[in-house]
Amino acid sequence: MTTPLKAALAGMVDSGKVPHAILFHEDDGGGGVAVALEFLQYLFCNSRQDGEPCGECPSCNKFSKLIHPDVHFIFPVNQGTSRDHLKAWRSLVLSKPGFTEADLSAALGIEGKSSLIAVAQAREILDTLSLSALEGGYRAVLVYLPEKMNQEAANRLLKMIEEPPALTQFVLITHAPEKVLVTIRSRCQTLRIAPSGQTGVAGEEQFGPLFASLMDSLLSGSLLDALEAGEQIAALPSREDARRFCIYGASRIRDIFVVQQGGSLGVEPTAQTARWARAVRKTFPHNALDSFTAALKLIERNVNIKIVSTDLVDRLMTNL
Ligand SMILES: [Zn+2]
Repeated sequence: MTTPLKAALAGMVDSGKVPHAILFHEDDGGGGVAVALEFLQYLFCNSRQDGEPCGECPSCNKFSKLIHPDVHFIFPVNQGTSRDHLKAWRSLVLSKPGFTEADLSAALGIEGKSSLIAVAQAREILDTLSLSALEGGYRAVLVYLPEKMNQEAANRLLKMIEEPPALTQFVLITHAPEKVLVTIRSRCQTLRIAPSGQTGVAGEEQFGPLFASLMDSLLSGSLLDALEAGEQIAALPSREDARRFCIYGASRIRDIFVVQQGGSLGVEPTAQTARWARAVRKTFPHNALDSFTAALKLIERNVNIKIVSTDLVDRLMTNL
């Protein structure tokens, strides 16, 4: 295992200190499922060594084909349960480690349709977990996009995570940790998967300084400085740049959120992120994400960028 996150995960296994539920926070397409599976393979392998699974034992062999009978998958579907769609899931996960939400919809043949994790899925897993492990060792439940669970399913899953059967490992992969039921999140160790193998966030170079001056002006309480930052957003070279700034901003806000919650970003948070996490209210990240999402929608609807940026600054300021 090569990245700091993978080394940390291997360290947890080696020291026997694995949190029984881990929430991986990835950007869409960030390879979170692949990281989770590598971690599980390492955990399950009886001949693991130096941070690597052996790759040859019966368990490793089953992982390589995603057919381990004690590894259960839950992901959003449009009809039936995940189990009905395992073939499509396996072929997607094996062929494209960095698959996106859209890739999954395409693989399931439900492009553009809504999908969710309904209670039937949680119930099915609960029934399975009430039986003993088929191979007599660890069992795992991997949930892709827990933010897509409806309330009833989330409550069922919460029960499982609260009273986990012995030797049962939960791994959840989310794109929006703030949308995961807080009672579930609080029982998970959150780990950030750094985008595209980098420690930095996509867009850092282009948007980092502008985002920093926006945050610092908001925190200084100077309306004039905040409006100036808004002007700079409006002055970005193109509408596409403004759109990408909002995506970058949302990603940084999520980092602030994770640090505030005591989770891990997978790397040391920057001094800025740590400082902002201490300085803003607990309600800020959630509201700020809504503000960035609202701004994105307005930009996509061709609303004047100057109006969008003023509105964004105004909303952020109100929620600080
Ligand atoms: Zn092995």
